[in-house]
Amino acid sequence: MAPSSELNRLTISDAADRLRRREFSALELTRACLERIGAVDPKLNAFITVTEEEAIAQAEAADRALKAGGAATLCGIPLGIKDIYCTAGVRTTCASKILENFVPPFDATVIAKLRREGAVLVGKTNMDEFAMGSSTENSAFGPTTNPHDLTRVAGGSSGGSAAAVAADECLGALGTDTGGSIREPAAFCGVVGIKPTYSRVSRYGVVAYASSLDQVGPFSKSVRDAAILLRTLAGADPQDSTCSARPVPDYERALTGDVRGLSIGVPKEFFVEGMQPEVEKAVRAMLMQYESMGATTMEISLPHSSYAIACYYIVATAEASANLARYDGVRYGLRERAEDNIELNEKTRERGFGAEVKRRIMLGTFALSAGYYDAYYLKAMKVRTLIRRDFERAFENCDVIVTPVAPTTAFRLGEKMSDPLTMYLSDIFTISVNLAGLPGLSMPCGYDANDLPIGMQIIGPPFSEEMVLRTGDALERSGAVTLRRPAL
Ligand code: GLN
Repeated sequence: MAPSSELNRLTISDAADRLRRREFSALELTRACLERIGAVDPKLNAFITVTEEEAIAQAEAADRALKAGGAATLCGIPLGIKDIYCTAGVRTTCASKILENFVPPFDATVIAKLRREGAVLVGKTNMDEFAMGSSTENSAFGPTTNPHDLTRVAGGSSGGSAAAVAADECLGALGTDTGGSIREPAAFCGVVGIKPTYSRVSRYGVVAYASSLDQVGPFSKSVRDAAILLRTLAGADPQDSTCSARPVPDYERALTGDVRGLSIGVPKEFFVEGMQPEVEKAVRAMLMQYESMGATTMEISLPHSSYAIACYYIVATAEASANLARYDGVRYGLRERAEDNIELNEKTRERGFGAEVKRRIMLGTFALSAGYYDAYYLKAMKVRTLIRRDFERAFENCDVIVTPVAPTTAFRLGEKMSDPLTMYLSDIFTISVNLAGLPGLSMPCGYDANDLPIGMQIIGPPFSEEMVLRTGDALERSGAVTLRRPAL
């Protein structure tokens, strides 16, 4: 039996098997994670709230369920939850001062699903305020650092979840992805993350940022674990009319390890000048690996890619300005003293929102204002259609598309904070996937000269998660990449 200090390093699939064999208990596994959080989180700041007592009670309940037999795969598995998910009785801050003391009276649908399966929720993870950012530096609770190099960012906006999984503070975690917020931090921290097809997973109880783009997804230490988590998360929800009723396949069973005959498109627009050469080299090495495993690769074109960031920052900010109107000092969280309603609204929002959130609300309000709507929002919607069609055309000739996740590895803390446009460029390879509503998997594919992880992205047509996961899992099994644990 592994010493309990190492249980937190296990993958979900290994831990689930061994819990069933009673090699250790859910309580021991949970304690190992909580101890690890105690030891490394002061350096990482991956968690905003650690729910130690609740986690221990859940682990004890999981042990009873495991003993009784027939428990679900996730029973007794410790997970981190991005602080954007409503958790009944546990504060949900969205890393904002405006929700600092907001305790939701209900669980998000995906949280309820995890609880029903007996998962153990160890805490709420750090993020960019309202998921706006690419580095987790826009958090009212301070930045999360990268477990591979504490002077660098963990990526964002789901940086806390990515860092927590990379540092073995939990076995898996939930994030959200509007423009890359699962895939980019997964790449920066050297873990797996998947943004499923738009509408694949319920968003009921997930604080809304940009509703036509937001999607829920998991972080994990292996592609298999991502498949296990997604199977639980996905599926229809009567509480969310935007959620698809399509049946959920058994994603784990799709992992055959076989990619023979698979055709992989490689978009020429995604290997741009100015990107870190080691990133391109690592991704190209994986393409050769796929060829040696019987897949074929072909160059493709996504001609409207260069408009993706401009288009996204109109659509996302417009939707954000509408979604964030609800924080008025009356219904949730912070409430400043004021003489009347207008003053209450102004003062609360002035004090409660951080700089980046205010910038987005102003941009979005401007884009939607009378006289400008056609010039900006409507035009962006048309560009969005062109971007989606680029992918539709590409998928007439190839099964999946492989790209880098981000143009560089993790950058230094503070490096991009004074220049929002450079920060926005971190998402150049992930944003078009949200605009087109497609599934995108991010997985480690190598390391740069500073030992920082490099991420590879696998994109598929709508609802092709089985093929996307199979493609990623096959590479993982091939042993082409040896994962390095951060020395913390
Ligand atoms: N970095 C992008 C933004 O700031 C994407 C964030 C996300 O996916 N939530 O909007």
